[in-house]
Amino acid sequence: MGSITLQKVSKSFGTTSVIPEIDLDINDGEFVVFVGPSGCGKSTLLRMIAGLEDLSGGRIVIDGKDMSNEAPAKRGLSMVFQSYALYPHMSVYGNIAFPLKMDGQDKAAIDKKVRDAANILNLTNYLDRRPGQLSGGQRQRVAIGRAIVRQPKAFLFDEPLSNLDAALRGNMRLEISDLHHQLKTTMIYVTHDQIEAMTMADKIVVLNAGRIEQVGSPLELYRNPRNLFVAGFIGSPR
Ligand code: ADP
Ligand code: MG
Repeated sequence: MGSITLQKVSKSFGTTSVIPEIDLDINDGEFVVFVGPSGCGKSTLLRMIAGLEDLSGGRIVIDGKDMSNEAPAKRGLSMVFQSYALYPHMSVYGNIAFPLKMDGQDKAAIDKKVRDAANILNLTNYLDRRPGQLSGGQRQRVAIGRAIVRQPKAFLFDEPLSNLDAALRGNMRLEISDLHHQLKTTMIYVTHDQIEAMTMADKIVVLNAGRIEQVGSPLELYRNPRNLFVAGFIGSPR
């Protein structure tokens, strides 16, 4: 429950082609990292998977069903936004519960899901606080909590750690990897940071100017980069 296939997916803005054509298989439960320099199309690709951006061509198939034209909410995926996307006037509880309230779920069901997520994310003692009363790492965990309660087929992360300082980034890398081990849910994680890619991914997708340069495990890419771009980006000698 969480396989995602891109078939000849392309994107143009006006006459500018940003993604010429991408084919990619993401298996259920995989932690996949899209890595590449700024402007190479990572966010655009993720937003197309999420349904936040139309495709110019091709198909996005989720668990065997063509979802290319489905609304974001129908796709069963959860996008984790950066922590500053939290509602400052709501408590942690309110922030995490928000998508479930929007769904019209009943109070008891919401309460159980919020407390389970808080438990997983070590936020149980912070449920009454406002985002402004939390550390950067705690705020990021609340943003993840808001995704968890929807029990998605896959989590989509777009550079979730880029506004945290270096020490905190290291911690959050471990926390997100740990979360993946606990939930075993498919995760697609976008970053321009090689260290995040190498330490978190089951499968790395190296993007360059809207094209896939190489797909493989961190070890495969390190040992056998297909070209200089991949070698340079992954940091292996070649
Ligand atoms: P990345 O996330 O890898 O930094 P993006 O997916 O944000 O890259 O952008 C890829 C390219 O598409 C960039 O050249 C960017 O300027 C362009 N782009 C992104 N969104 C739009 C848009 N709404 N209109 C026009 N060009 C866009
Ligand atoms: Mg981006």
